[in-house]
Amino acid sequence: MKIAICPGSFDPVTLGHLDIIERAADIFDKVIVVVASNKSKKTLFTLEERMELINRCIKNKNVSVDYHSGLLVDYAKEKGAVAIVKGLRAMSDFDYEFQQALTNKSLYPECETVFLTARGENMFLSSSMVKEVCTLGGDISSFVPEEISKDIFKRCKGDF
Ligand code: ADP
Repeated sequence: MKIAICPGSFDPVTLGHLDIIERAADIFDKVIVVVASNKSKKTLFTLEERMELINRCIKNKNVSVDYHSGLLVDYAKEKGAVAIVKGLRAMSDFDYEFQQALTNKSLYPECETVFLTARGENMFLSSSMVKEVCTLGGDISSFVPEEISKDIFKRCKGDF
């Protein structure tokens, strides 16, 4: 069975993330969405909340959600993952992603980093952009799934 992991902070998950996750689920037998648990990084949603928001949006039966705080390749090894799937947006992603992919390859050569190109409409979509637009009162309905937009709206407004 070919297992892939889709890592990220997902603070919060967007339609861009979900597109990559769903396309990975069509290619691999099993996909694990790995939410970064980095206590020193300030996030809008807690780790548990970010995982719950993703779980609410995932429709594919072969996708599960987990978290990890150490080296990603250690997690990949532990799960027997053959690929790390990442979404590639505009050129700005490239340098950093390339560096990470090469580092992960030298740490764990059995695992390949696979880049899926972002859809045109998601090319400039990021979690930080969603938070910024929402905080300023903009409409985020074309950036995040309907299931979670109220949660994001409330949190950005400081309601809970
Ligand atoms: P962000 O950069 O939005 O904070 P993450 O760190 O959670 O997102 O990103 C996790 C993964 O999802 C990365 O591989 C990133 O390139 C990918 N990704 C994020 N946003 C998009 C998007 N709009 N389209 C495609 N892939 C994306």
